[in-house]
This record gives sequence, C-alpha cells and structure tokens, in this order.
Amino acid sequence: MKIHQLNTEEALASLHSRLDGLNQAEVIGRLHEYGLNQVDEVQTESLLLRFIKEFTHFFALILWLAAGLAFFAEYRQPGGGMDTLGYAVLGVILINGLFSFWQQYRAEHAINALQKLLPHYVKVVRNGKLEQILVAQLVPGDVVLLQEGDNVPADCRLLEAFTLRVNNATVTGESLPQARDALRSSEENLEHSRNTLLAGTSIVSGEGKAVVFATGMHTEFGKIAHLTQTAVKGSSPLQTEIIRLSRIIAGLSIALGLAFFFIGHSMGLSFWDNFIFAIGIIVANVPEGLLPTVTLALAMATQRMAKRQALIRHLPSVETLGAVTVICTDKTGTLTENRMAVSSLYLDGQLTTPTQIQRQPELAHLHRRFFEDALLCHNLKETVNEGKWQALGDPMEIALVRMAKNCLGENISYPKINEVPFDTDRKRLSTIHQTPHGIMLYCKGALEMLLPLCQQVQTSTGIIPLTAELKQAYLHSQEEMASQGLRVLAFAWRKLSEGHNSESQEQDLILSGLVGLEDPFRPEVPEAMRLCRAAGIKVIMVTGDHPHTALAIGRQIGQIQSEHPVVITGDQLRKLSEIQLRLALDAPDIIFARVGADQKMRIVAALKKKKQIVAVTGDGVNDAPALKLADIGIAMGIAGTDVAKEAADMILLDDNFASIIAAIEEGRAVYANIRKFLAYILTSNIPEILPYLVFALLKIPLPLTIIQILAVDLGTDMLPALGLGVEKPEADSMNKPPRSRQERLLDWPLLLRAYLFLGVLEAIVLMAAYFFVLHTGGWQWGEQLASQSPLYLQATTACFSAIIITQIVNVFLCKSPKRSLFSAALFDNPIILWGIALEITLVGLIDYTRWGNTLFGTHPLAAEVWLFILPFALGMLLLEELRKWLAAKVNA
Ligand code: ADP
Ligand code: MG
Repeated sequence: MKIHQLNTEEALASLHSRLDGLNQAEVIGRLHEYGLNQVDEVQTESLLLRFIKEFTHFFALILWLAAGLAFFAEYRQPGGGMDTLGYAVLGVILINGLFSFWQQYRAEHAINALQKLLPHYVKVVRNGKLEQILVAQLVPGDVVLLQEGDNVPADCRLLEAFTLRVNNATVTGESLPQARDALRSSEENLEHSRNTLLAGTSIVSGEGKAVVFATGMHTEFGKIAHLTQTAVKGSSPLQTEIIRLSRIIAGLSIALGLAFFFIGHSMGLSFWDNFIFAIGIIVANVPEGLLPTVTLALAMATQRMAKRQALIRHLPSVETLGAVTVICTDKTGTLTENRMAVSSLYLDGQLTTPTQIQRQPELAHLHRRFFEDALLCHNLKETVNEGKWQALGDPMEIALVRMAKNCLGENISYPKINEVPFDTDRKRLSTIHQTPHGIMLYCKGALEMLLPLCQQVQTSTGIIPLTAELKQAYLHSQEEMASQGLRVLAFAWRKLSEGHNSESQEQDLILSGLVGLEDPFRPEVPEAMRLCRAAGIKVIMVTGDHPHTALAIGRQIGQIQSEHPVVITGDQLRKLSEIQLRLALDAPDIIFARVGADQKMRIVAALKKKKQIVAVTGDGVNDAPALKLADIGIAMGIAGTDVAKEAADMILLDDNFASIIAAIEEGRAVYANIRKFLAYILTSNIPEILPYLVFALLKIPLPLTIIQILAVDLGTDMLPALGLGVEKPEADSMNKPPRSRQERLLDWPLLLRAYLFLGVLEAIVLMAAYFFVLHTGGWQWGEQLASQSPLYLQATTACFSAIIITQIVNVFLCKSPKRSLFSAALFDNPIILWGIALEITLVGLIDYTRWGNTLFGTHPLAAEVWLFILPFALGMLLLEELRKWLAAKVNA
C-alpha cells in the first residue's frame, strides 16, 4: 500500500522511523544512500543560446554590418587594405561578446553564491531532541515540524496537524489553499491525498508534524523540476533605459556615418575612401563595453549591498532600489529590536509589574488563569536541553512564557489539542488544552479583537459580567500603556464542554487582563530616518499594532515630526474610497495602524497609482501579495517566512530598517556610475570623429586611422571605463531627492558635457599635437604626405597618444559630474588605477615597438611631443574644474 493509505503508525514503521526521530547512525547511513535533499538546478536558458545572444544584440549587429561592408569593399577593390579593417571589427565583436558573456556568467554566479548566505533550515526531531538543520541534510524517515509560512522541504506524510492548509500551486497548479490532516486516505493519487505535503509547496496556515518519505530528486517536485519554467519577468527601469539608449546611439552612429559619406562624396573623395570613413565613424560611435559595464556595475553593487546586510535576489532590482520614493515599513522587528520584555500588567483594574507579582504569590494564585494563558497560548517549539528550557519562535511569546513562569513560580504543561491560528487579520490566537480542570481555551491578542468575544471579566473576588464601564477602563488602560510605546496584549479564557463544536469555541470568553511589552527601537533607525528625509524618501509605517503604540515609536525614531500626523486605522481605511486614500497619502507623516495584510496591498497599490516607486517590507504569508506588487519587495531574513522571502526582490539579513537605506544608497550609485561611464566613453567620440571632418573639409592628411580608433575604444579605454562603473557612492548621493521617472540615463546635460565640452577639449589637444609634429617636421599647408612617410606616421601617433593622455585625465574628471576633482579621494578605485597602468603600457607597446608600429601604423615619438601634450591635458583639467565651479555657483 502507498504511504498515504496507511495509518500514521504504519507509515512511520514503513520508513523504519519513530515519533522521536532517527538516530545519528541512521541519518548518516541514509544521507549516504539517498543523497542530499536538493533538486538539481535547471538551466532556464541554455548557455549556448545566451552565448549567441551576446553576438546578436543591437550594437553587435551594427558592428557585423560594418565588418560585412569592409569585406565587401575588399572584394570590390582587392588590395585596398579593407580586409584588415574587417578582421579588426570582427575582433571587436568577439572580444566584446566574450567579455560580456563572461561578466553575465560571473554576475549570475555571484547572485547564486549570495543566496547561499541565506541558509534554509528546518525543524526536525532526531533522537528525541528538537533541532534546526539545513534542509539539504534531511533524509527519509526524519520527523519534521512545519508551520505557517514554511516551505515544505521534502515529500512528507502528516502525523499530526492543526488547522493546516497548504498551497500546492507549484506542483499541481491548484492555487487555492487546501486543508490537510493526518487521517489515512483512500485516494489513489499521492498528490491529491489529504495527508501528504509535497516538496516545493508551502504551508499557508496552521502547523503540523510529519515524516519525510522522499527527498531531493525522488520528490514529486524533483521529478518535474526539469519541466518547470521560471516566469518571464518584466524589464526593470534600467533595462528599458538601456534599450532606449542603445537605439539613440545606434541611430546617431548610422546617421553620422551616412552624413560623412555624403560630405566626403561632395568633397570629391573616392567612393571607397568614403566607405572606409563611414564605417570608421560607425565603429567609433558604438559604445563597446556598455553592456558588460552595466552588468558589472550591478553585480558589484549586489556584493556591496550584501556586506551591508541586504541580499538582492534579481540583478535589475539593484537599480530600482536607487529610484525608490516611498518605503512602507513594518514596525515590530524592523524599526524595533523585537527583543520583547514584559514591563507592565493590568489585572483587576490595577496596573502592576511582574516583579511585584513575584513578591506576592497570592496575587499570582488569584489570577492563575491569566498566567496559564500567557504560559500556554503560543506557537513556540519548546525543548528542554540539559535542564534548560529553550524555545524557537516569536520573541514576544518567549517573553510572555518567561514572565508567566516567574510569576507562577512553576512550569505547567498541558497538552495542546487544537488551536485557532493567529493571523494579521484576526490579530489573536487561541489554543485549546487538556488540563486537570477540564478542556480549556486560552486566547490572547489585540484588545479590540477580544472585547467582542468576552461576556465576563476576571477580578480578584471572582468572575463578574463585563459592563460598559469595565470595557472603558480596559480600553483606557490600553491607551495609557500604548502611549508609552508599549505593545499591549489582552488575555481571555473559557472552559469548554466535552465534545464542543469547533466553530463556536472563541465566544463567551472571560477577559483576564492586559500585558504591556517593551520593545526598544533599533539604535540605528533614527539616523536612517534622518537620511531618508534628506534623500527625499517618504517612510510610511504600516503596522498591526495599536495606533498609540505606533505613534509613540514613530515619534521616538523621528519618522513622525509634525504636530498632527495622519494616523489611519484599518477600520478607517476600509471606509476610505480610492480617491480619499490617495489624497490621504499626500500628508508628510503617515501611520497605518491595526491594519491587516490585504490592506497593506491596497496601500501599495494606491502609492503605485500615484506614480511612486514603492518599497515594502513584510514577513508573513499574507504579506506575499504586497511584496510582489511593490516595485521592491523586502522580506525579513530572520523573522520572515519562506513564502515571504520567495515573493521578495531583496532580503534583509538583519531585519534592520537601516539596511534598506544602505541598499538604496548603493542602488543610486549604480545609476550615477553608468552615467559616469557614458560621459567618459562618449567624450572620446569627438576626437575620433573630428579628424575625419578636418581631413575631408581641409584636405589635410588623415590625423587618426580607424585601427587607432579601435585601439582606443577597445584597448585603452575599456578598463578605466569599467572602473567608473563600480565607483563607490558619492558622499552627497543621499542628500538629493530620488531621480524622477522622467529622468533619462542619457540626457542633454550629459551629452553636451561629453560632446561639446570635454570632447571638444580633447579634439583640440589632438589637433594641436598633430600640427605641432607636422610643423616641426617642416610640413607646409596643402602638402600631401605618403601614408608610410615617417613624418605622417609620427603625426598620427601624436594624435593617438594625445587621446590616451586626455582620456587618462578625463577618467578623473568623470569620477564626479559636479564635485571638484580635489574634494574626494582620487586614488580610491583600484580598477581605474590598473586601467591607467594598462593604458600606459599599451601606449608604450603601440608607439615604441616594431610590432605595435606595423599593426597600428605608428612611429616612435620624440620626448618633446609628450612635453607638448601634457600642458594641454592639464588645461583641460583646469577648464573642467572651472566649469564645475561655475555650475555650482549658478545652482546655488
Ligand atoms: P506588527 O505590525 O507590530 O508586526 P502584527 O501584525 O504582527 O503587528 O500584530 C498585530 C497585533 O496582533 C499585535 O498588536 C497584537 O495585538 C496581535 N498579535 C501579534 N502577535 C501575536 C501573537 N503571537 N499572538 C496573539 N496576538 C498577537
Ligand atoms: Mg509582526
């Protein structure tokens, strides 16, 4: 018989396992035999296909066209040297494609490696002890404990279940949650049996104990893994921008190529000469290296973010982060430490403290049901290890259990026979226990959620009806505690008759008291809030807690600064129309309190309609839809459930709000860096194009050859340009508002600065060097020079070298578009420094070796040529400093 058709004892026996789990030797043996519990990764896109893609994107196609034209020219006019150019362009395509492919591959590896920083654990019972182990270490026969939000780590047969529901969508495609229990099933099909949990699915609610019967590739999920396809993701703002930018630059290149072709034609140059120039112009304009730089910039940013406790799950999210305008954040655990301590109690109309109760055991006895409630009503997984009590779970519940034990002066354990689970909409939890005094229901949760269920109230003298005045007294006392920033919980209980109907358990309760818990805010948070304000990012607190608690914490951390902040409760939110909500969101300081998870989603949706880029945090199963909907979903690494993590774009390893801000800073740097890169490589297009114009218009010998252009674009410029792509964030990057949606990666200020200012300066240096060499060599205006004459070779070498020198200066100028060169560390970027070293080495090889001379049509330069170029390059530096200074003055 199949395992789901057996009863629980038979199922355990069939796996040679027991309720208290396997022992060490059995685990080792089974690990050896059945292997690690992991599903081999499936490659979604074949490596070959991705390799081919690197050679067929827009820029590559333009270069293919250029190479094709060159070979065509050679075919029509053999011996014209056009084939060399063709091969050179092919080389360009190859180098660029290989490099880009390598970057992509490495970036992906890095992302995968990062995921390993986030180990997945599962709770198992082995040798009678509760342990947390890595999911991969699970073997058939292991007894696991699962609860709401957990991913099911392997195929399991349930042994015990409380209100357990699963989402099987990943395996069977059914998206509605389905109830599960431990009863034997007569179902033929394993997947439809009510007592199995399938690997790769998740627990939507409740909890249970189960025995593993298949791991790794033996699971149903493992069997179908190779069939699954990951969903196609929409493109990120950056990807859209890159596509746009590619089109602009490609259009520009081709237009310029054509224009030069016709200029040359009208100047009476030969068809084939024109042809070469057109190709040269196109090649000069294509920003080789852009795509690998973008990948590298994103990948490096993910590494830096990981160091700052933010784990990125999808590469493009890095940059989306930089554009974030609103953060909707949880309170407990994110803004606060989630290190709860009970600081006050409200019993029988009196405020008191746990220490006072400990001093008066008779009080504890009078309020015994209250403390039993605090001790028993929880979802913790408890163990006693060498006499010490240990528990896994919600820190608040641990604090309550500790407090109750101390006050009662003893430990009691009554077996839990059922529960009505907690969720953020119900805001309460009830557990049902078999006790010596009968079957008891203990309930705890938000006071507002308990009051409607209570008919009576517990006092020192007995149980009396809950009057309107008593209700008021409770509500008043809650507000008082909440206003000090305490988290307030109410407790209630009742005795159940045997054979009670499970539907009607939570009613006719007896209210027994309140607890106030202290949860200090994280010390880094006020500074993070200040940074958000400076950076124009709005922070909205969205919490299930009481409005007064939320407001008190909000004020403590500086999220709330205005006298009359907008505080909207879940009940009020439900009554707001779409338009009213959007209007309310205009307020500077907003708190949403006592909201449920579905409402979080409504807030995110409204913000998105207001054209905000929204980041939202979450930890529970119910948060998943909001995390998916937001531009950036952020899951908690410690408190978060597997389900929330899977829905998120980023995971906070330390659950800390301040880490979000650090990640945003890195995200902003990526965008800024790609712009720096663009400014740098676009600048050199002008000194590369101008020589052709001069050549055609003034009829002087051609100052710069196509091969030399390629040497600059693909040789010397590459590494420094990459270096600009990975610059650290600038000091003032968090002092300005997020970039607007209208802002473009390539905009007019950038184009003008690169082309009309820096580019023109470089072109001037280049032409000056050219004429300097020609002039000292005795050349007269209008004189023709043979293409192999030493004077001509020296002159083009001077041009080539001038571009290199000015680009070395330019890389420093491009480190910041606004700040003075001298206001920050100049030599802090090793890639740039290596790049410059490489540049100088290459120039040496090209200018001064025989090999370089023949390949690039160069000739050794005299020292005075260098001495002539240097002051010009410094002049360029000074002029850019002057421009920055003037721009700052105008803006001030
Ligand atoms: P937060 O936004 O502070 O994380 P939650 O949504 O987790 O708030 O909780 C909302 C409310 O539900 C709390 O204020 C509390 O009254 C109640 N609550 C939270 N956790 C529990 C629990 N484990 N058991 C019972 N009630 C709880
Ligand atoms: Mg919570």
